[in-house]
Amino acid sequence: MLPDVENLIALQQADKEIHRLKDEIAALPRRVAAIEEKLAGTKAALEKAKTAAKADEASKRQFESAIQDLQGKISKYRDQSLAVKTNDQYKALLHEIQFAERDIRANEDKILEVMLNTDNREKEVKAAEAELKAETAEIEKEKNIAREETAKDEKELADWNTKRDKARGGVNPDTLQHYDRVAKHRGSGLAEVREQKCMGCQVMLRPQTYNEVRSGQRTMVCDSCQRILYYNPEHDTQMTTATATVSKRRRAHPKFDASQAWYYRGEYGESGEVYLSFANANGSSTRRIYDVHTGRRVGEILTREGEYRLGFPEDLNNSIRLNGSWAEEEIDSWGDEMPMTVLDILQRDLDLARSEAASPRSRTEAVPVQHPAAS
Ligand SMILES: [Zn+2]
Repeated sequence: MLPDVENLIALQQADKEIHRLKDEIAALPRRVAAIEEKLAGTKAALEKAKTAAKADEASKRQFESAIQDLQGKISKYRDQSLAVKTNDQYKALLHEIQFAERDIRANEDKILEVMLNTDNREKEVKAAEAELKAETAEIEKEKNIAREETAKDEKELADWNTKRDKARGGVNPDTLQHYDRVAKHRGSGLAEVREQKCMGCQVMLRPQTYNEVRSGQRTMVCDSCQRILYYNPEHDTQMTTATATVSKRRRAHPKFDASQAWYYRGEYGESGEVYLSFANANGSSTRRIYDVHTGRRVGEILTREGEYRLGFPEDLNNSIRLNGSWAEEEIDSWGDEMPMTVLDILQRDLDLARSEAASPRSRTEAVPVQHPAAS
């Protein structure tokens, strides 16, 4: 993987974490503010309940004093009734007394009503007081949590900012500018490629682009979303499954006398790394050469007299023999570029051949390099 891409992956990760931490830090005071708002609401409800209780008390006193007045009037009427001369006067006083008594009952009813209300009011006040107490305790707790979390987040944020600066410093300025531009518009400037698809926009890549991304030789961008592309074979499920299956069993060794043979060479003239394909038929042999990274065919298809070891001995120097067998017609149908699946198979076999060669246990058995003189 290109160092630029590695740094961009680190940068993307840092940007994501920084974003998350900033959100978290911003959310904590909001949470406290929401509880404080609720607290203010509870305080207001408590005040209202207290004021209403006071008003009730006042009206109760008012009704009580009205009753006292009426009782005074009644005893006055009774005194007067003792001194009246006529029956009419007596009746009139009796009426007044009855009116006053009725008013007293009405006031008593009102007092009763207020007292019933007072019970509810007291309950309301008590509930509001209890709620206020609980909320006050909660807000203190929340404030403490917020303080602790903010401190922790801010420390983490500082760490991520350092990582971010380091990652940015490791990316070529032009690439970084491109990343920033795309990230600004699309939210991310980097996308992984899996199963030949850009995971940023889900668009299939052209085989050429896919091969170049996988080879990791230069920075590639998605034609469709402009994100910088990278490839991680461990994430590619198809590939990983296939590799896992292959590595479980021992690598099959190519047959020496096979009619078709595949080789890898680390450098081939000006072409760099190549795969060589040989096919023996009717006493002659045909050679095709493909670029390892792009799968593109290099040069012309060449046919020579004799089987390939005799026809192309110079090609086999410093080469690694690989497993691979495809029908001649199939190879013809590839044209100028071998399919990704073929490229994958060869790449996997090459990796296995290399690790086999590197492992001391199997060094004696593996025959990664075949020199014509050795056969
Ligand atoms: Zn894309």
